[in-house]
Amino acid sequence: MATLLRDSGARAQLIDGKAGGQIVDEAARAAASALTLDLGRAPALAVVLVGEDPASQVYVRNKVRRTTAAGLTSIEHRLAADTSREALLALVDQLNRDDAIDGILVQLPLPDHLDATEVVEAIDPHKDVDGLTARSAGALVQGAPGLRPCTPSGCVWLARQALGDLTGKSVVVIGRSILVGKPAALLFLQENCTVTLAHSRTRDLPAVCAEADILIPAVGRPEMVRGDWIKPGATVIDVGINRIDGAGGKPRLVGDACLSEAIEVADFVTPVPGGVGPMTIAMLLANCCAAAAARAGRSRPEALAEILPA
Ligand code: NDP
Repeated sequence: MATLLRDSGARAQLIDGKAGGQIVDEAARAAASALTLDLGRAPALAVVLVGEDPASQVYVRNKVRRTTAAGLTSIEHRLAADTSREALLALVDQLNRDDAIDGILVQLPLPDHLDATEVVEAIDPHKDVDGLTARSAGALVQGAPGLRPCTPSGCVWLARQALGDLTGKSVVVIGRSILVGKPAALLFLQENCTVTLAHSRTRDLPAVCAEADILIPAVGRPEMVRGDWIKPGATVIDVGINRIDGAGGKPRLVGDACLSEAIEVADFVTPVPGGVGPMTIAMLLANCCAAAAARAGRSRPEALAEILPA
């Protein structure tokens, strides 16, 4: 646990998401290896990328590299930007019916002419390793078994590494998207936290944030959360990834919290980059192994017991 924490040079310790991602990748590798022996084939993840979005291309390249390194099979489908709705849905259907595929991920965003909700809903919930279908979201609300969204699962795991048992902590999540904010709120609730879900209409957001033992900004506004929004001794798990002009006009990445101020006030802070970001793919690999086990009627691999939320 201690290996994830780094000195920030100020009050807070940094929670190293890159090291965290490696730990979870390693657990996925152990799970994949056990499943390969048991099932006679490695868990398989199919990634569908439509179009040429540069950020998505980089992300998919990383996914493929880490999937293979963890001993899972990676199948990639790269489709032209003008792929029709019918062709994309037909591919998803084909992947749903392919028994050798355990996880399906359609990289978002999709080109404008395609309806992301329709395409995501077409994915077999048993293979929904992004945890974004209505069935997966419903299972999360009910506390029923299912696949949970990757980035919020990564946030919970990092918070547990820093703080241990989260029972009774007050959590403020800023942002209510289906991808991050809402599932994050539900996952922290499942950890027995007392959760506030804030958004653009929340009144006096700084005062709301100042109540949080654990603050999760997931907004997409560079350095919106200032030091005086943070309760002394709190933990900040910063989901935001924002590209801004740095020194000499060189682009640099910052989070939704102002890191230099947060580390003066909080006890634990995830940096951007190198915080929540690297956890997303790691949780995807863990989910794919969990999906492979569940589809084969096996219990969740032992190696994932401490990784995935219940
Ligand atoms: P969305 O744009 O879908 O949602 C943003 C949310 O922030 C909305 O709920 C919105 O509220 C809220 N919001 C906007 N402005 C304010 C404000 N001034 N005060 C309070 N709340 C506000 O973004 P995502 O959830 O998809 O992503 C959020 C951030 O996380 C982005 O920076 C994204 O890049 C990053 N991200 C990082 C990932 C990772 O792997 N680390 C993965 C996914 C996302 P309302 O609903 O009222 O409009």
